[in-house]
Formats: sequence, C-alpha cells, structure tokens
Amino acid sequence: MQDRRADFALPGAQSALLFETPAEIYARVFRALRPRTSLPEFRVEFCRFANADSFIRLEDGRVHVRITDLLEGAPAPVQEALAYILIGKLFRRPIPRLYTHRYRLYLNRRDMRRQMHLVRQMRGRKFVSGPVGKHRNLEEVFEQLNARHFHGLLGRPRLGWSRRPSRSMLGHFDPSHNAIIISSIFDDPNVPLLTLEYVLFHEMLHLRFPVDHSGARRRVHTREFRAAEREFPYLKEAKEMLKKL
Ligand SMILES: [Zn+2]
Repeated sequence: MQDRRADFALPGAQSALLFETPAEIYARVFRALRPRTSLPEFRVEFCRFANADSFIRLEDGRVHVRITDLLEGAPAPVQEALAYILIGKLFRRPIPRLYTHRYRLYLNRRDMRRQMHLVRQMRGRKFVSGPVGKHRNLEEVFEQLNARHFHGLLGRPRLGWSRRPSRSMLGHFDPSHNAIIISSIFDDPNVPLLTLEYVLFHEMLHLRFPVDHSGARRRVHTREFRAAEREFPYLKEAKEMLKKL
C-alpha cells in the first residue's frame, strides 16, 4: 500500500500532527477555534456506520465524536480537517475551505469510494418495496420511458415506493443497491402521471450518466445529463405541476 501521507503532506505542517491521538487532534483544533473557552474532555470513537457520516455533540462538558470506521486509517491531516469541520458545526462557525476541500478530496479518492460503496452494500439496510403501488406500477412506467427515451436498452434496477410520501425527496437513485426509490406521493390517481414520469425519467438518467468524480467535487448533474433531460417532452409543464404538488 502506498503511503497515504504523501498525498496530504503540507508545507510547514507541524510534525506533531503525526503523533497525536484523535482526541489530541480534537483538543488542539478546539483550542485553535475557541482559545478562551475552557477545554472540555474529548471522546473520539470510530463506529461501524453504514455511510461516511460523522457526529459530534457536547454533553455535560464532554465532547463526543463518532466517526465512521472507514476513516480510522485516514492520515492525520484528514482527521484534522474533519475535526475543523465537526467543531465548526458544533459552534455553527464557518468552516475554512482548506479543510472541507481536504476532507472531500480524501473521500473522493477511488479507493475510499470503493470502500464506502462496499460498506453501504453490506451494512445499509435499504428498504425497497415492490414496484406495484396502490394505484400505479413503477415497472410499467419505467418500461414505457425506457422504450420512448432509451430504445428499451436501460437495464431495469430495483424499483420501489418510499415508505413515507415525501415532498422533499421525490425520487432517488441508489447505486449501491441499484435501486430507484420514488416518493409515494405519486402513487395517487389525483397526481398527474406526467409528474411521476418526469421524476422517474430524471432518476433513470442517473442510471445512464454516472457521477463525475474528477476533482474534489462530485458532479451529479453533468452537462450531458442536463442536455438529455431537456429531451423530455413537456418538461416545463411537468416542472410547473411539481411546484404545485
Ligand atoms: Zn438528480
């Protein structure tokens, strides 16, 4: 395995960084951000989460940090970047771009993405109902769109209705489970079919156009994605109707 530190070696970085325990890193970052606040005790744990989320909370004068075990082997500068992000969140302070960028760059590395993908697959307990709802069948809508826009060539993923009729998450493509989840608000004869078609079409484009991982940012809606989306007939009408839901 290559030395990960080399990627993140910073000019002038304190060599102390390499010998600190995670709790010491958090204490140092806390000191830097809150020089006048008395230093709390830190408890840093690596947990088996199903994704790369990390959590921080202040309780009884103690700071509890829970980090995904995917980052247990991450180099110290990455741990430090996450400490700036989490402590910044704790005090609702803006987080310097240097740290968010460093952290994202690390998570976006190919080996990290692979590990996250595997962990999500193994640990994530994804609920996917069948495609048949009370009023509408996602499989039928999928195959019609497939024939109309993809020459019928798009492999059908698992299709399911969300457990709750969500208005904030209308549709979602989950590559780890090869599943498209559609909000059950569309499983309703009073909701125009066009809106469901548009939302499902959008998710099908996520199947067709993979996420662009070059650089630090993930680009989900690439230029080709947007161009393909504009080919949906009655796009404007569908978007208008969605706003009214
Ligand atoms: Zn999207």
